[in-house]
Amino acid sequence: MTRLLLGAHVDQTNPIIEAQARDADLVQFFLGDPQGWKGPVVAYEDGAAGLAAAACDAGVDLYVHAPYVINVATTNNRIRIPSRKLLQQTVNMAAKIGARGVIVHGGHVLKDDDPEVGFDNWRKCIDQLEMPCPVLIENTAGGDNAMARRLERLERLWAALGKANGGDTVGFCLDTCHFHAGGEELATVVERVKAITGRIDLVHANDSQDGFDSGRDRHANLGAGKIAEDDLVAVVKAAGAPVVVETPGLVEGQGADIAWLRARLGTA
Ligand SMILES: [Zn+2]
Repeated sequence: MTRLLLGAHVDQTNPIIEAQARDADLVQFFLGDPQGWKGPVVAYEDGAAGLAAAACDAGVDLYVHAPYVINVATTNNRIRIPSRKLLQQTVNMAAKIGARGVIVHGGHVLKDDDPEVGFDNWRKCIDQLEMPCPVLIENTAGGDNAMARRLERLERLWAALGKANGGDTVGFCLDTCHFHAGGEELATVVERVKAITGRIDLVHANDSQDGFDSGRDRHANLGAGKIAEDDLVAVVKAAGAPVVVETPGLVEGQGADIAWLRARLGTA
């Protein structure tokens, strides 16, 4: 098999150094405050063009995780409108650093809302979004009215995206902790997702501190949580996409998780 690219979610100040410290092929990071609305910034001292050049020289692929505050599905105008703006700004900045994709959570509607309104809000968002860098929607662990926790919802989300201008370019980021905690069996999830989306662009390989269908989003180092080791490895192999560990322990913990995967993928 071809060698899968493996990496980690790292600090944004110098993602290249962080990649090299973990023996990583790729890195994911935030552009600015993940909990804020201020808009993306490039923390790297040589700026966006400098980071793009350094990543190219080092052979490290870059991925950007959009801020957590973004929720383009919500019926709340005061969140949805700024979410669209912030997503556009993030995609534009990600393109400037040569990122391979922008990962954004599927979001949710309010408890008593019809989820169909949320899917249609996604359609409208993508309709208006310019995507010089691909957008990858990630499944989430919790919430009773989430857009992308369970596959029944993912199917309806993808149907809505199919009606949007550019909707066919939207990708999917599969998080193992989120599907486990969200209540989808990992052993078969890759084929079931691909039947809906036709693609998996990135895998977030995380173990889970919590049990199946707990709805809780607490990542653990690989092999140290509640997910069966065979399931974690099987998802990564079946997806065949680049992998990011979003696990604790910085260089030491994440470096060990990358090595853990390499050993089990037979690509050490
Ligand atoms: Zn994730």
